[in-house]
Amino acid sequence: MAICGKAGRRSFIHAACRPASLRWRRPNDTMNESTKSWHEQAAQLKIDGRALIGGKRVVAIEGATFDCISPIDGRKLADIARGTAKDIDAAVASARAAFEDRRWAGKAPAARKRILIRFADLLLEHRDELALLETLDMGKPIAASRATDVNAAANTLRWYGEAIDKVYDEIAPTADSALALITREPVGVVGAIVPWNYPMLMAAWKIAPALATGNSVVLKPSEKSPLTALRLGELALEAGLPDGVLNVVTGYGHEAGAALALHSDVDCIAFTGSTRVGRQIMQYAGQSNLKRAWTELGGKSPLIVCADVADLERAVETAIGAIFYNQGESCNAPSRLFVEQSIKAEFLERALARVPGYAPGDPLDPKTAMGALVDDTQLATVLRYIDAGVSEGANLLAGGERARADSGGYYVLPTIFDEVRNEMTIAREEIFGPVLSVIAFDDVAEAVRQANATSYGLQASVWTRDINKAHKIARALRAGTVHVNQYDEDDITVPFGGYKQSGNGRDKSLHALDKYTELKTTWIRLE
Ligand code: NAD
Repeated sequence: MAICGKAGRRSFIHAACRPASLRWRRPNDTMNESTKSWHEQAAQLKIDGRALIGGKRVVAIEGATFDCISPIDGRKLADIARGTAKDIDAAVASARAAFEDRRWAGKAPAARKRILIRFADLLLEHRDELALLETLDMGKPIAASRATDVNAAANTLRWYGEAIDKVYDEIAPTADSALALITREPVGVVGAIVPWNYPMLMAAWKIAPALATGNSVVLKPSEKSPLTALRLGELALEAGLPDGVLNVVTGYGHEAGAALALHSDVDCIAFTGSTRVGRQIMQYAGQSNLKRAWTELGGKSPLIVCADVADLERAVETAIGAIFYNQGESCNAPSRLFVEQSIKAEFLERALARVPGYAPGDPLDPKTAMGALVDDTQLATVLRYIDAGVSEGANLLAGGERARADSGGYYVLPTIFDEVRNEMTIAREEIFGPVLSVIAFDDVAEAVRQANATSYGLQASVWTRDINKAHKIARALRAGTVHVNQYDEDDITVPFGGYKQSGNGRDKSLHALDKYTELKTTWIRLE
């Protein structure tokens, strides 16, 4: 691909790079395995691509499969059941039967807690296998899969398990003549549709609160990353979840996904994915049974660095780490960097010094900080956006090209554009790749206005030593989460979700329980 930035291109040789700092979401345990041993383990994996319905692994009713291709090297990993409307019917019937006979919903919260905690423990016991499946399936570095994704998914299951026997219902402050109980009940059958960028974690963010509140679930993972969802389904059974309570149907979005969202016996659809498909999900709900449709969608998050930032180096480290983590395939990646003109040159010099640390490497090498994009389509999309940045006049400072093509996988260099205007395609649309757009500002009010001038509203960040300014800007930013002088803090205790076209729901925290429960009022007349 021919790319000529105004300032020319800065390329680098990844073999010569030091490993990037993993301070941004640093793995929290040590890993001794060598690259060789991960490759050996990968070669020995036996992957079962059948769906999980009613507690059993089953082929698709029409018998079709699709290829699961690893983005690491283009190698076929497995045949995956290509579920269609018939498989969704079977899974929903199984979930409905499980819900109606109350084999799960009827258990005491303390009993559900024990099983969810056992489920979390099993994830940790299968840490290496799950991490390997995740890395082979979607290309993220093994160090991240193993330490971050497995831990976070397990922690999510544990947290909701621990919470559920501590949540009380309400009695309304009515007159003496009556008693009004306000109780929460499970909605019934939950359809969960999840994306490929954090396959295991996004699945956990849905199934943990849905199961904790007593629902039955049909989970539809992305066709690009179905492997860990299938293993989660098996581990749930091993933990003691009754058959039929968690079903996993693999398949394409327009087939299995649409059938699930259109199904009239599904009471709630919990969707994480693109804004484009999120729109369709809400239409499907309207076209069918007006099921509750919760959407967690895309982002184009701004990170604003003011000249009075207290620690410029930390701001640089965080901005660079957050955009390049997970190959830039994070809904909340701060892909628009607003930096005050007077510190821009220094900021960029420091940022460029960090770029080589994110050179794409073998995802099975424990030192690799950036792995492969999820597939050839995503690679083509990212390269198309890079072309658009160049042709619209942005200044390509780093990257801008495919990397490691001889591996057979789908890698792209970490890319930085300077002199971006907020109206450019690369600043408006979610790229979902390692591409940072730098926009200079002189007036912070104008930076905030531009930061908000987007159809998205997932996250935002502001860096300043002035506490008044920080509070005022945080208040003015239209986003579900605003970070001040950081971007890396995250926790299951806080809600995650967006304003505007970043979606209408919140995952994580006790607020997520609202999505999976109906609020019932029971009036009791007192004689
Ligand atoms: P996507 O919308 O293409 O697919 C998401 C899921 O929807 C997949 O399982 C897919 O098979 C399914 N799907 C596709 N078409 C469908 C249809 N017509 N009916 C029903 N289901 C259908 O998204 P993606 O490419 O997998 O994921 C990337 C997107 O997810 C990005 O936009 C990212 O920002 C977003 N995301 C958001 C959050 C959040 O919490 N807000 C978290 C992670 C990812």
